[in-house]
Amino acid sequence: MNVIFFIFLLFLCFPMQATAWSNGPAGNAQTNLPEGCTQPPYATHDYVADYGLMLLSAGECDWLMPHRVMYLLGKEAPDNDDIPIECNSPNTGYDDRRKGQSVEWAADGSGFAVVGEKLIDRAAVRVHEEYSKAVTAYQRGNLSDAAFYLGAMAHYIADVS
Ligand SMILES: [Zn+2]
Repeated sequence: MNVIFFIFLLFLCFPMQATAWSNGPAGNAQTNLPEGCTQPPYATHDYVADYGLMLLSAGECDWLMPHRVMYLLGKEAPDNDDIPIECNSPNTGYDDRRKGQSVEWAADGSGFAVVGEKLIDRAAVRVHEEYSKAVTAYQRGNLSDAAFYLGAMAHYIADVS
């Protein structure tokens, strides 16, 4: 039997864990130590955020690339409220998972669902809030903070996509 085929069969029989919408591998899921500030754990959310950057033209993301690490830290913020202050991010994160990070559409597709008089549009609201903060930070010349907020925005978009 071909050795490569045998290894392939081993991977099929013993697959590695795959976690959608993860911020990092098991045991290192979030940045909560100062040592992680410059190299946050990388997983599905990071891939989606990076893919968003790849969709931009070079001219559109030139300002953001030097702040990519802050962008990835911001990507953790919706799931992590323990980002070390040593990371110099604009905040330590939100961890608003329990408030809901998704949207729900009306059955007829007319817009967001309303459940118990509550509009189920939290992700859309959070995307807009983070985008607005990014715009304000960018206009003030604080590109690092702008990158952080765009990363958080990318997280909410990834959650509903
Ligand atoms: Zn999330």
